[in-house]
Amino acid sequence: MDRGQVFVRLRVLRPFDPWKSPLCTCPPKYSLQPYTGCSHGCLYCYATSYIGRRPSKPKRDFLRNLALDLLRANPSMHISMSNSSDPYPPEEERLLLTREALKLIARRGFRVLIVTKGSLVARDADILSSMRSAVTMTITTLDASLAKVLEPGAPSPRDRVSALERLSSAGVPIGLRLDPVIPYLNDDERSILEVLEAAANAGARFVVTSSFKARPDSLKRMCEAYPELCGRWIEIYRRRGTWLRGYWYAPIELRKRLLARVIAIARKLGMEYATCREGLRGREWFSAPTCDGSHLINCGRS
Ligand code: SF4
Repeated sequence: MDRGQVFVRLRVLRPFDPWKSPLCTCPPKYSLQPYTGCSHGCLYCYATSYIGRRPSKPKRDFLRNLALDLLRANPSMHISMSNSSDPYPPEEERLLLTREALKLIARRGFRVLIVTKGSLVARDADILSSMRSAVTMTITTLDASLAKVLEPGAPSPRDRVSALERLSSAGVPIGLRLDPVIPYLNDDERSILEVLEAAANAGARFVVTSSFKARPDSLKRMCEAYPELCGRWIEIYRRRGTWLRGYWYAPIELRKRLLARVIAIARKLGMEYATCREGLRGREWFSAPTCDGSHLINCGRS
């Protein structure tokens, strides 16, 4: 089916289109961002050339527009919150925009997939556990000092693990995003094992992983933060890598090596796994029914 045919004109719900990447394997879904900008300020962020590098700001008339969109949207498609701006930045504690959006979505019976680094998501376990939902939490490292440089405005990795534990205890299906795996920085086996073990102990049975894809602005930020690694990144991304739809991809053999490390550990821990926007197919790279974790959404609730 032509994806364009299933979408009517909406205000804040958008057909998910990851920058028209031919490598995306996500099922058709809506993307919903309550905020523009993102206070988490991750160095490797893919979205900064679209949303800018500024704090999260609520969208004007967001809830009113969402309520109207939900009357016209296709309820067979799930809603992914969020793909280019975190739905749980620190501002959400006061503004409650995501929480109110969840109430509207629940009332209309849509399924929702939360994608976040915000431990604040555990606050909404009451709503999430009563609707058809799942939460995937991004954790790139358990090293708090590394995370503080890479994701300066986001909660600590341990706080994110605690949020997963709280959600899981409340009956909300959870998964892990180990994304991005950055060559020479968080790609060693011990670091990957720590992250997967912590998520698995919190109740996650699914991990999706992806290698770092560099953009000119993100590579510059990474080089400024880690000048000693800059030459190696320039070599693998700009000299030996591939430019695809606005991103430098590292050479395929290197990407496979990094992702295979994650998958081998996932297998040992009995977790389902998938890769994201890598162009890799087959059981070696995918054991889960979906790459985004939307299969985790509990269908039994209404
Ligand atoms: S949380 Fe996501 S959207 Fe926000 S800065 Fe980090 S990578 Fe970008």
